[in-house]
Amino acid sequence: MEKILNYINGELVAPARGNFLDNYNPAEGKVYSLIPDSDEADVAKAAAAAKNAFAQWSVRPAQERSAILLKLADLIDRDLEALALAESIDNGKPVSLARRLDIPRASANIRFFATAILHSATETHSTDAEAINYTVHSPIGVAGCISPWNLPLYLFTWKIAPALAAGCTVVGKPSELTPMTAFLFSKLCIAAGLPAGVLNIVHGLGAKAGQAIIEHPDVAVISFTGGTVTGRKIAETAAPLFKKLSLELGGKNPNIVFADCDFEKAVSTSLQSSFSNQGEICLCGSRILVERSLYEKFVDEFVKRTKALTVGDPLEDKTVLGALVSEGHKQKVLSYIALAQHEGGKILAGGREVKLSGRCAGGYFVEPTVIVGLDQQCRTNQEEIFGPVVTIMSFDTEEEAIAYANATPYGLSATLWTENLKRAHRVSAAVKSGILWVNCWLFRDLRTPFGGMKQSGMGREGGWDALKFFVEVKNVCIKL
Ligand code: NAD
Repeated sequence: MEKILNYINGELVAPARGNFLDNYNPAEGKVYSLIPDSDEADVAKAAAAAKNAFAQWSVRPAQERSAILLKLADLIDRDLEALALAESIDNGKPVSLARRLDIPRASANIRFFATAILHSATETHSTDAEAINYTVHSPIGVAGCISPWNLPLYLFTWKIAPALAAGCTVVGKPSELTPMTAFLFSKLCIAAGLPAGVLNIVHGLGAKAGQAIIEHPDVAVISFTGGTVTGRKIAETAAPLFKKLSLELGGKNPNIVFADCDFEKAVSTSLQSSFSNQGEICLCGSRILVERSLYEKFVDEFVKRTKALTVGDPLEDKTVLGALVSEGHKQKVLSYIALAQHEGGKILAGGREVKLSGRCAGGYFVEPTVIVGLDQQCRTNQEEIFGPVVTIMSFDTEEEAIAYANATPYGLSATLWTENLKRAHRVSAAVKSGILWVNCWLFRDLRTPFGGMKQSGMGREGGWDALKFFVEVKNVCIKL
């Protein structure tokens, strides 16, 4: 069985203590590879390699760092098919989605920051004729980059690309549930000529390998994407150590549909924002709020189209929803569907596990599920489910829609459907979330700030925000 290896100091190596964990193919429910069960000994080696490599990498001209990263992006494009297949097998997502979204975004992330660094500039401030101040940006040091399982290579590269472009070196850890593309990526780093130690990838469990990265004294800055509970734990560990921290956490995003919307676009895009990647995207609009006069028409059409979505083998092109990432996650999603019923919700579509035949007979499949009849405060409407489950509620006024949108502890993203320009501006200003999409969803421009308010996180990724996160800022004041 294939053994995934750590990537430390430029080499692919087994974990120090020789222990491995099972890695499942969620569409089959079978172990298909092994992943290093790394611990603090592996993290110590990775951090030492990163610290050592920092001396050279941090002072290399941006042009040279950029050239290596661009080569890496080209290699991802070259291996698009193999990486998309690996991502689909590891995560359960349709291979068509990995081919269209995950892998192209991974190379785009690297290309974006590899070129952005060539255009970065700092400020000067003159104090009349008396003094001039200039600002210096210098890479902080070793960055810890920890990513989740839902968009594995996409989110891993979203962190390490700005870190490396800015001149930091990295100890990274992908999710233990989806380690494969990061392993393939480490081989591409070697092929691209990334110097030893600049990027180190340690595989393993969050509480063990992940925690060791957060605690390591030589890891000065931490970029984390994952659940809010984990984010809190990381903040508790990192705060007394005064480590710089970026947290991209969970969401319970509202999708607000006004009666004056473009109905066809609102329904078809809402279907995507509900069920893309099996609903396992932090930006999915899991709470659909519809103006009362449109409610019945919207629900009828949305339910009809939900029932027509194909749940199936992720490797078949006709599949729209593949497998959930793990048996544990499937159980969690099913338990929320049961809870919704207990809380008085009515299931209009889906609600059950899907049993496929043949190769995927043991896979973790759940029907796309639509639930109505719940109030805003019930647990189903307050807690992140992170699966193919949406609730639909009605509202009467704009004020009510805003209040409902803001009625959870989260504030990651919100979607808004209206043809009324003034309303779009008013509601966008009032909804407390870091990202607002008006008449679209997941329309990404990598220059824009990305991140959440409230319990959805701290800090912003993307554009200059991401590059600035990985540098120390120093002001030099010269008296004239
Ligand atoms: P998770 O928090 O369980 O794990 C994320 C990563 O953290 C994994 O690599 C895990 O091994 C590691 N980890 C766990 N405990 C750790 C610890 N104590 N110290 C250090 N690392 C630790 O999240 P998940 O289940 O992999 O991902 C799903 C969650 O991620 C959802 O809540 C989703 O909303 C969120 N997410 C957020 C964004 C965003 O941009 N805001 C994007 C994608 C996913």
